[in-house]
Amino acid sequence: MKKVDVIIIGASASGLMCAIEAAKRGRHVLVLDHAKKAGKKILMSGGGRCNFTNYDVSSENYISHNRHFVKSALSRFSQWDFISLVETYKIPYHEREHGQLFCDNSSKDILSLLLNECKKVNVNIQLNTNILNIEKKSNHHFLINSNMGNYHCQSLVIATGGLSIPKMGASPFGYKVAEQFNIKVWPTTAGLVPFTLHKQDKERLSGLSGIAIESIVNSKDMSFHENILFTHRGLSGPAILQISSYWSAGEIIVINLLPDINLLEELSNTREKQPQIKLKTLLHKLLPKRLINTFIDTILLDKTLQEISYEQFQDVSSQLQNWSIKPNGTEGYRTAEVTLGGIDCDAISSKTFESKTVVGLYFIGEVMDISGWLGGYNFQWSWSSGWCAGQYV
Ligand SMILES: Cc1cc2nc3c(=O)[nH]c(=O)nc-3n(C[C@H](O)[C@H](O)[C@H](O)COP(=O)(O)OP(=O)(O)OC[C@H]3O[C@@H](n4cnc5c(N)ncnc54)[C@H](O)[C@@H]3O)c2cc1C
Repeated sequence: MKKVDVIIIGASASGLMCAIEAAKRGRHVLVLDHAKKAGKKILMSGGGRCNFTNYDVSSENYISHNRHFVKSALSRFSQWDFISLVETYKIPYHEREHGQLFCDNSSKDILSLLLNECKKVNVNIQLNTNILNIEKKSNHHFLINSNMGNYHCQSLVIATGGLSIPKMGASPFGYKVAEQFNIKVWPTTAGLVPFTLHKQDKERLSGLSGIAIESIVNSKDMSFHENILFTHRGLSGPAILQISSYWSAGEIIVINLLPDINLLEELSNTREKQPQIKLKTLLHKLLPKRLINTFIDTILLDKTLQEISYEQFQDVSSQLQNWSIKPNGTEGYRTAEVTLGGIDCDAISSKTFESKTVVGLYFIGEVMDISGWLGGYNFQWSWSSGWCAGQYV
């Protein structure tokens, strides 16, 4: 039977950050994880280069039933604080579009930073540990049974993340702990995830697999101006992943495949100047041939602009600039980058991350009902929430 001050379940972004901060305060910290390796999601993130934060972070970049919850933590440990840590370790990094910061070399640099900080302050990380049971003995006293033995702690931190990528060790553990202690959990769904298509659309678009196009994708009141990617399964690419977090089953999304021009005007003006030009000649200059041939009727494409009516121009413009499509669903947790929903923020203190009803129990990171946009926002939430909780556990 081992006694420590703090047990953190989950040895990844939020859990390791919390462990470092708590240990800096002199707390005796044990991090438990069922995986063989710490920080697996960090390693696979950002295509292996970890998009670790963003130059421009605000509450607008997060989805939650409580939109204000993130503000306090994001301001107490901001992107600038994490960037400064990255710079202390001389990790080379670069900015991509929309302020996203990626490692030049590898995500390993970020994980090594965290593990090195853990080592400096004597954080104990124990892997291959399956938690069998959690019991609250009294305020600030938890008993944890695991396949590796039993542990007592004063503060228990749940940093077990969401459900995305079960192959990487994702589990509903955190939600079950919340349920055990009667803490509300919002229903979860996959976010930042590609769309699958209905059979008919899938067949129609199958020839476009591999084409990426800068677009504006709209769903309800949200819109994202980034690339979309046609895949053999459906639609992906940054704009699609972003909008997927706002989409509900059965809804239509609307895509503008030519976001930088007014196609109707372009068609009318060109007809004035070059009435003999064929529609396909003009459209093939604007978008890939394969795409135009899939979207626009072949007979119309072969006509010259003077042979085409204004109503037909309107129709062509609408198909390319106001393309409505109803996804069949998403690829689900198998490929999702985040989990929407989770531990209700109203049940947690935004200052300490302690449960408002269970003294000594804390929730941080993605297990909470906080999901960021694509672009480094999810890691920033893990760093910020982990850091803040680390000051109190
Ligand atoms: C493919 C992919 C790429 C991503 N890329 C980026 C990116 O570039 N930038 C960005 O900001 N975000 C990215 N994300 C999201 C980001 O990885 C997560 O938001 C972040 O890792 C959440 O951190 P966390 O510590 O809360 O949880 P996680 O990183 O999910 O860690 C949870 C830990 O808990 C452990 N655990 C789970 N269940 C149990 C259990 N029952 N018992 C013991 N241990 C358990 C897991 O093994 C894991 O180590 C990406 C996600 C994916 C899937």
